[in-house]
Amino acid sequence: MNIIIERYNKIKSNIKKIPGSDSSTIIAVSKTFSLEHIMPLIDHGHLHYGENKVQEAESKWTKIKIEKKNLQLHMIGKLQSNKAKKAVQIFDYIHSLDSQKLADVCAKTQNSINKSIKYFIQVNLGNETQKSGISFSEVDAFYNYCVMEKKLNILGLMAIPPNDNNTEKYFKSISELNASLGLKNLSIGMSSDYMVAINNKATHLRIGSSIFGERS
Ligand SMILES: *Cc1c(COP(=O)(O)O)cnc(C)c1O
Repeated sequence: MNIIIERYNKIKSNIKKIPGSDSSTIIAVSKTFSLEHIMPLIDHGHLHYGENKVQEAESKWTKIKIEKKNLQLHMIGKLQSNKAKKAVQIFDYIHSLDSQKLADVCAKTQNSINKSIKYFIQVNLGNETQKSGISFSEVDAFYNYCVMEKKLNILGLMAIPPNDNNTEKYFKSISELNASLGLKNLSIGMSSDYMVAINNKATHLRIGSSIFGERS
């Protein structure tokens, strides 16, 4: 069997061991990898893929998305508002909604092309300057802006926790904030911490290297 499919199946069986994990979605993060490298997983029937750059996603996925209409593409990287227009056209989900300006452009674009995509609000859990995201205390107001003013379909919160061995604590706090807003979906968990994420009610796991191998 193809090594990518083997790794993918292993992750699925790990997740299955946790009660209540049935509805969780694995987003296979394919950034930096060629379509040729990803293809075995597409042929295997997996539908959800993650990319972090608009340009790369456009050149890699435009053609195959026309051929395979049920493929779902997730934007998981920092999105500048000047690239948001193109992003709304290519992606089905944006996990990195993190400013009013970006929300404005996304809303305007999706209305103009009659497309409704799904969003996660990115939260900067450790207030790290090198990471984007809305700070914890401002999430409530920003969520209300996106839903009330912009009518965006916000599925839940998303975060990349600080790399300081407190992952469990960060995941617990974002999970509680997510629930307090009445949100049903939560985008947390990567190759190194997806089991911790599942234990904290993650519904969307963004897993790259554990499926596709190390990125160069
Ligand atoms: C690259 C990336 C991932 C996947 O990381 P792995 O450690 O390879 O699983 C997940 N989320 C975001 C936002 C990423 O940029």
